[in-house]
Formats: sequence, C-alpha cells, structure tokens
Amino acid sequence: MDRPLPQLEPDPSLPRRVTVYEVGPRDGLQNEATVVPPAVKAELVRRLAATGLGTVETTSFVDPRWVPQLADAEEVLGLLGEDGTGSRRPVLVPNECGLDRALAAGVGAVAVFGSATETFARKNLNRSVEESVAMFAPVVERARAAGLWVRAYASMCFGDPWEGPVPVEQVVDVCRRLMDLGCDQLSLGDTIGVGTVGHVHRLLAALDAAGIGPERTAVHFHDTYGQALANTMAALRDGVTVVDAAAGGLGGCPYARSATGNLATEDLVWALDGAGVETGVDLDALVGTSVWMAGHLGRPSPSRVVKALSGG
Ligand code: MG
Repeated sequence: MDRPLPQLEPDPSLPRRVTVYEVGPRDGLQNEATVVPPAVKAELVRRLAATGLGTVETTSFVDPRWVPQLADAEEVLGLLGEDGTGSRRPVLVPNECGLDRALAAGVGAVAVFGSATETFARKNLNRSVEESVAMFAPVVERARAAGLWVRAYASMCFGDPWEGPVPVEQVVDVCRRLMDLGCDQLSLGDTIGVGTVGHVHRLLAALDAAGIGPERTAVHFHDTYGQALANTMAALRDGVTVVDAAAGGLGGCPYARSATGNLATEDLVWALDGAGVETGVDLDALVGTSVWMAGHLGRPSPSRVVKALSGG
C-alpha cells in the first residue's frame, strides 16, 4: 500500500460523474496575501489541468487597483498560450472593459460576479444589485455573440457579513435575473461559509421551482465553519454535478478572519473517490501540486487531505 485510500463504497444517491470547477488560480490566489509571479501562475494552471481537472478558471480581468494579485492576467494567458483558451478555461470579467481585455487575450469562456445582497453589491461592485445586473447585460450579450461560454456567480447566497441572513426568495430573484441575461451556468456562492445542509436543499429546491434546475447550477462552498463538504454532498444529492473547489484550499476567507476559505479540491476528490463518483482527477498529482504551490506561498495548505497525504 503506497498510501491510505478511502474504501470504495458506491453511493447510489450521488451522481455518477462530477465536474470539478477548479478556482484556485483565480479565486484562490486573489485572496492570498502573497503575490506570485506570472510564470508560477501559468505553471499552476498547467499542473492542475494535468491532474485531470476538467475546468480551470485561470485569472481575472478586474481592475488591477482592486485586485493587485491578478494584475498580470494578460501575461499569464500569454504564457499559457493554447493551454489558456477554450470553453474550459474561463476568466472573470467584471464589466465590458474586462470583457474587451479577455476577448483580446483570446479566451473562450468568461464569468461575471454578482451579489445576492445590496450591501455586498455596493462594496464589491460600487453598484446596487439592479445596476450591477444592468452592467452585466452587455457583457453577457457580447460574450455570447462572440461564441463564449458564460458563467454567472452569485455571491452571499447563504448569508452576508453585513446584512446577516439572506432570504431564499431574494437569492432566487437575483439568480433569475442573472440567468435571464443568457448565462450558461450559475454558481451559488456561500461567500462567508455559513450555509448548512437544510439551507442548501431549500435554496436548490426554490431555484428549481423558479426554472433554474440543478443541471445549470454549480455550488461554491467555503469551509470557514467546516461545512463545505457536507453542503457539497447535499447539493450533489439534489442533482448538482458541477462543484467549485480550490486546490489545497487556496484563498483564505476575507470576510471572516479565517485561514479557511474555498473547499479544498483534494478534500472533495477524496470523498468522491470513496463514493465511486468519477472526477477524472489524479489525487496524488493534485496533492503534489498543492504542496509545490504552498512552497511559493510560504504557508502550508489548510486542506486536511493535503496534510494527511503529504505528511505535512
Ligand atoms: Mg471562493
């Protein structure tokens, strides 16, 4: 035995195959204190893709004044060349200016980043929810006209650090407005990690009733309170098959003074491997990549699986 393995026990309540939507290079590095050089970012994307991850979000075309960690988007994509294009290498675009940069860089997929709450829309986008949806409309329209795949993130779907609880009806309303723009996929973000299993079921059921079924919905849970994997499994039982995760749990949680943010891809893959759910991801290669990345960041990965399998 080279290393411990979960005992394979197929779980018929789960989908047979799950697409892991890797957000480490964008969402992860955006929230790390250390700014890593573009060559390291490009190598990270290449290494992640080589582990079998189907989709890797590569960078963000946000204004560098807001997110200095990703000010090198053009350079990273230039280094990636063909490895950074296509419908499975999305980039975040906040507005039409970002879309122009993304199109010039030759990307094949984009994501816009909305908010389920007014306060976070104001703080993150300097706009009301309504104004931000209006800002995204031409972005989505032009992206689709150019043949790009488009994802809509909805953040603060399970709670907001300033507003507290967020009514499910309000989340559904914002999600419907985002999807009505013509987006291909919705990603439900638990930005502060406060969601729990019953809440997940209720929101997914409400979205489904509003015409946004699990086949168009991805989930994006944060592990701030240790609930990310439980919440993810709950969503998979409701028919969701796309899960956002960050290799090694890259990215802290900026809204709760915690080192733990994104669900670690390794923790997800371990659980799915045990349940006999196909991901196509080589867990050992992924752990190796996260250990390598931790060396560049100067801090160990918070992922339990990375710690256990790397002896760290
Ligand atoms: Mg995140």
